[in-house]
Amino acid sequence: MTSMEYLKLAEAFEIIEVTRKRLEMTDMLAELFQQTPVNEIEMVIRLTQGKIAPDFEGIELGISDTLAQEAIYQATRIPKITIKRLWISGGDTGTVAYEAMEQKKQTPLFTDKLDVKNVYDTLIDISKASGTGSQKFKLKMLAFLLHNSTSLEAKYLARTFSGKMRLGLANMTIIDALAVTYATKEDRDKVEWAYNTCSDLARVGKLLAEKGLEGLDDISLEVGVPLRAMLCERLPSIPEIIEKLNDKCAFEYKYDGLRIQAHISDDKIELFTRQLENVTSQFPDIVKMLAPAFHGKECVIEGECVPVDINTGEMLPFQVVSRRRGRKHELGSAVDEFPVMLFLFDCLYLDGQDYTQTPYTNRRKMLESCIFESERVKLAEVLITDDSEKADEYFQNVIGKGGEGIIAKSLADDSFYRAGSRGWNWIKFKRDYKTEMADTVDLVIVGAFSGKGKRAGNYGALLMATYNADEGVFETVTKLGSGFDDEMLAALPELLDEHKIDKPHKLVNSKMKADYWFEPAIVLEVRGAEITLSPIHTCAINLAKENYGLAIRFPRYMGILRQDKGPEDATTTDEMLALYDIQSNRGGE
Ligand code: AMP
Repeated sequence: MTSMEYLKLAEAFEIIEVTRKRLEMTDMLAELFQQTPVNEIEMVIRLTQGKIAPDFEGIELGISDTLAQEAIYQATRIPKITIKRLWISGGDTGTVAYEAMEQKKQTPLFTDKLDVKNVYDTLIDISKASGTGSQKFKLKMLAFLLHNSTSLEAKYLARTFSGKMRLGLANMTIIDALAVTYATKEDRDKVEWAYNTCSDLARVGKLLAEKGLEGLDDISLEVGVPLRAMLCERLPSIPEIIEKLNDKCAFEYKYDGLRIQAHISDDKIELFTRQLENVTSQFPDIVKMLAPAFHGKECVIEGECVPVDINTGEMLPFQVVSRRRGRKHELGSAVDEFPVMLFLFDCLYLDGQDYTQTPYTNRRKMLESCIFESERVKLAEVLITDDSEKADEYFQNVIGKGGEGIIAKSLADDSFYRAGSRGWNWIKFKRDYKTEMADTVDLVIVGAFSGKGKRAGNYGALLMATYNADEGVFETVTKLGSGFDDEMLAALPELLDEHKIDKPHKLVNSKMKADYWFEPAIVLEVRGAEITLSPIHTCAINLAKENYGLAIRFPRYMGILRQDKGPEDATTTDEMLALYDIQSNRGGE
């Protein structure tokens, strides 16, 4: 059977690219699908998306700009400097290839017409090439494709090489076009559901083309194939949230990290992000901790992966996790440097049963029933209430502990997991956007915690306090663990041991139980990201809010030991309150 000409595709892309209206794009695409042989629809959809496989398979072409430029040169033989200039003058890969082909001196004597199958197969061969000689092989294949193409084909081939099709075509438009072509407009929800469940439009298209709408019955949640993530709406106040969710809901801690969908079976654990990227190889530690947590279970669960400081126990900013990503080759050290915890909040599949179409309460029950919690894998915290004051107190508590906010989850009979959609079953409520602390502060060391990991045998984190000048006491405000270089760490025992005492100093007001206590003597300069309300620190307790003190989040030692300052010269509680006010006012602006 002959394959569809690639030129047909390129011509359709050319029209779609300049079309603005979604309806017109849908019509164009539907026309293209109608002309596509059934056995090629999968390839056509992938090429339209500029892909050769679904995102979650992580198959990449691995073509650098330099390689693409060299291929354009080999196929056209126009001076390299001209190609470079076209590149610099802002053209995208596609425009450069198009222009270069237009400027090509002579038309070659022998060319083969490109068809969809040989373009797709060649791209697959390119993606498989690895090791020595692979660059040479890729170059030969790219040049072969360009050599046999017209200028228009070259434009879209080059864009496929770079992974950016620039057609302005949303997946939702492809779904519309598939529904119109193989079923009716009214069936688009079913088509969308199929896509949200298998995350692969080309597979959906193939089933539709082969068997019509019934073909989609073949799609179901499969372990190893990620579902598109459910998302949340937002509302500005807790009472509005409670009202929207029929007067009662579950409020979960909103962790600030990286969403992970874990697919667990006997012999394999795979991790996917919200963008459906397979990140299993970047988080070997998560794989290792999930294995005992779900021993003997086959399940699909979701949670948030959060970096933690093993010495302070504090959750760290999300960016710390992203530092680990992309470090495929030196992962070993990154895993130790940035340990993570996983807080699980949903169970979509368990031992042969798809739970997505069951209510939240049931899914949470399933999750609780199948997990063995550990220090690093835990259930997400939850509070079920109909009382907005209790919910607000919980919210403050979460913020105090460094959380981003809360997510209210519906308890209704239809509170299903709606893959790929933003809905009112989940409503987020975050704190106002934060600002940086206005100044550094000088804090007194009043206690310390034993070190873990690289700091084992030494102090891991220090309990720091402000000075309450009115009452003549020291009030704890943060646990300080970062900013110390090796030299300072090594010097800590000598510095502190002469001040060591066996219980909290009588002038130290602390709700926390440190492993070591010191008389207030040593002052360090500290900068934090922000000041928050905290139920566990005593600085300015009850002054900003009843039962709450102030805490510094993400504190960092600035490398300055304030030998010029005695403990009573440290930042006072009043000053902290003033800094908190400045920060709150700025935040409100
Ligand atoms: P946002 O990114 O602000 O729209 O918030 C939604 C994200 O919050 C989700 O995609 C998750 O990554 C994250 N998240 C953190 N904690 C939870 C939780 N308990 N339930 C659901 N999502 C959570």
